Amino acid sequence: ADWEAAVSAVQKLAPDASILLACHMNPDGDALGSMLALGLGLRALGFSRVQATFPGPLEVPEPFVTMPGLELLVPAAQAEPAPELMMCFDAASISRLGEVAGQVDTAGVTVVLDHHASYTGFGTVHLVDVTAAATGVVADELLGRLGVELDRAIAECLYVAVATDTVSFKSSMTTPAVHELAARLLATGIDPADIARRVFDTRPYGAVRLYGDVLSRAQLEPAAAGGRGLVWTYATLADLAQHGQKPYVLEPLIDAVRCTAEADVSCVVKQLAEREWAVSMRSKGGSDISAVAVALGGGGHRLAAGFTGRGELREVVDSIVAALGD
Ligand code: 5GP
Ligand code: MN
Ligand code: MN
Repeated sequence: ADWEAAVSAVQKLAPDASILLACHMNPDGDALGSMLALGLGLRALGFSRVQATFPGPLEVPEPFVTMPGLELLVPAAQAEPAPELMMCFDAASISRLGEVAGQVDTAGVTVVLDHHASYTGFGTVHLVDVTAAATGVVADELLGRLGVELDRAIAECLYVAVATDTVSFKSSMTTPAVHELAARLLATGIDPADIARRVFDTRPYGAVRLYGDVLSRAQLEPAAAGGRGLVWTYATLADLAQHGQKPYVLEPLIDAVRCTAEADVSCVVKQLAEREWAVSMRSKGGSDISAVAVALGGGGHRLAAGFTGRGELREVVDSIVAALGD
């Protein structure tokens, strides 16, 4: 990784230089947490013009509304058009930056912090570690090299980033170094039980009822994925409307579906619009689903990936079955 180039890009800026941080659309805990941690760190270093943004409407999903650093957020339309420094977080490709992608071309320097196997190589300075459990791990390393001291606010952002992307320290990416980072974060005084309750364990009653509907229609296809099995389910816009829920509440469903002992690969197919579906995929190790997602126009990691599928539900599922091969 280009650590020295990243550090010097920051160190040669004047205190009032324009800095724009951006993360991927529909941000998750890693995208928001790594971005806000860097934003707070740059502010602590004395930079006065730090903006953070993500494409789409500036709606922070309910689990993250208590995160420190949200005051740095501006709507994408109001973001600095040609920042002196841009930093991108947890976005493997420029398309994940939506309408903020234009700034990547006009920025003085674009530093990319990421950990996706499907990273396309965009940007000028690459801090991309495909062995990192989260972009938050990369952000921690950069903050350390910039001489930023971890305070409680920065630690909470990084903790949310790492805890979400490792599925609460359960993923195969959870190394000793990840636990050492968690220990340093906890030493600042953050409360992991309180964070977990806010981020993972609080959803509206309507969401719980919706989970019942969606899980009750899970389908097992034992012959798929080379006979290792596929389990999948789906949620439509009508399901969300019926229970009065927003799309973010569907995120935890993949963790329930992937429990299925009889299937190596699991999918949740979430309707975005007429004939448009966001697909979350997980594998227990039998399939490289990053490659499957890339083949279907998306990206991700070997064991956790996704894409946007078009067509009828059954066509999208059939495309997954075909891409998994036999
Ligand atoms: P999730 O299922 O949690 O939404 O996403 C799992 C992984 O797949 C994440 O690392 C995410 O970046 C990646 N991913 C999910 N959806 C898409 C997509 O539409 N395009 C790309 N490029 N990656 C995706
Ligand atoms: Mn992400
Ligand atoms: Mn991530």
